[in-house]
Amino acid sequence: MSVKSVQIRKGKEQSLLRKHPWVFSGAIFSEISDIEDGDVVSVEDFKGRFLAKGHFQHATISVRILSFEDSEIYQEFFNKAIKNAVQLRMNLGLLNPNNNIFRICHGEGDHLPGLIIDFYNGVAVIQCHSIGMFRSIDFISKALQEALGSNLKAVYSKSSDTLPERIESKDEYIFGNCETPHLATENGVQYQIDWVKGQKTGFFIDQRDNRNLLGKYSFGKKILNTFCYSGGFSLQALNQNASLVHSLDSSKKAIELTDANVSINKFKGQHASIVADAMEYMKELKEDYDIIVLDPPAFAKHRDKRHKAIQGYKRLNAHAIRQIKSGGLIFTFSCSQVVDKYLFTNTVIAAAIEARRNVRILEQLHQPADHPINAFHPEGEYLKGLVIQVD
Ligand code: SAH
Repeated sequence: MSVKSVQIRKGKEQSLLRKHPWVFSGAIFSEISDIEDGDVVSVEDFKGRFLAKGHFQHATISVRILSFEDSEIYQEFFNKAIKNAVQLRMNLGLLNPNNNIFRICHGEGDHLPGLIIDFYNGVAVIQCHSIGMFRSIDFISKALQEALGSNLKAVYSKSSDTLPERIESKDEYIFGNCETPHLATENGVQYQIDWVKGQKTGFFIDQRDNRNLLGKYSFGKKILNTFCYSGGFSLQALNQNASLVHSLDSSKKAIELTDANVSINKFKGQHASIVADAMEYMKELKEDYDIIVLDPPAFAKHRDKRHKAIQGYKRLNAHAIRQIKSGGLIFTFSCSQVVDKYLFTNTVIAAAIEARRNVRILEQLHQPADHPINAFHPEGEYLKGLVIQVD
């Protein structure tokens, strides 16, 4: 089938030749008024030579590239791409008796820009960040059924928060059905996941490896887990015999999720929850903690908010560094894409200077392998963290 095309200015083909998967609106010089949001288009250079194919959208990122070959973007295309994505997660051993929570598709990192798919013990939750992906949702659902076979019980489409308002999208099951909350397992710990009522797709899968690492340090320790959401870090710490865990979040709903998750696992250690603003609470801690976890939401979603975000990270980290027990550990994170790992490390160092304490970096943390970074799209790197020891 013939597809519409867009032509880009001389010189603007360079990033596509390096396989970067975005075309910005300013690069396009051809008429686009007859192209609809979500249409598959061919991208051509100024002489009309084919460069790539992708989903068009009337937005700053005008085309998200799906293929650098002139292939048809139909069922077969999605079958192949999703099979590849599932295969990677199987090779990583993420579906096993101890774990059935993982990300199946991480947008550009799986060569499917605009598409996030998370897997929770038999249920795939799809979150589309582009109209083209949303219009392809039936292809995607069928491709998931083919790739996962009997491992897949249901597919839930949840894009009402991530698509532009002009698109009508209902959050609903598009294959099978599943009651929520739904029990799923991460590294041997059970969580009740609710993608219908919860934030994002229901759980922050990207911290799996870092929670596991916290578990390794937790035996007999007193831990404060701030920005806990559904208690991911708290539960791994309790599972590895932390003596006391305090979970803090400003959202009452999040704390309810944490409490429910703690109660379904039979842990020996003590647990208490706190509904509070973390920045306020951290000003004066009521306990001597061995370990503090700082995992705030993205303080900067855009470059122009970066400066303010850094001040926020610095303040938060300085509070923790100033008050933690001598020899204590801080697990500190940033998921702001515009704050890179060097800037984040320097910000934590600045916080240590302000708090006037000696700090050593023990571990440098990042997003896990089921959130891969396309080497030609460095913007895909977003989660970074440090484990620091305060002398
Ligand atoms: N660490 C979590 C994920 C954190 S998501 C996990 O492992 O699953 C960020 C959380 O920060 C959300 O639950 C949100 O409700 C909470 N939050 C946002 N602003 C906050 C604030 N000022 N104080 C405390 N919690 C906050």
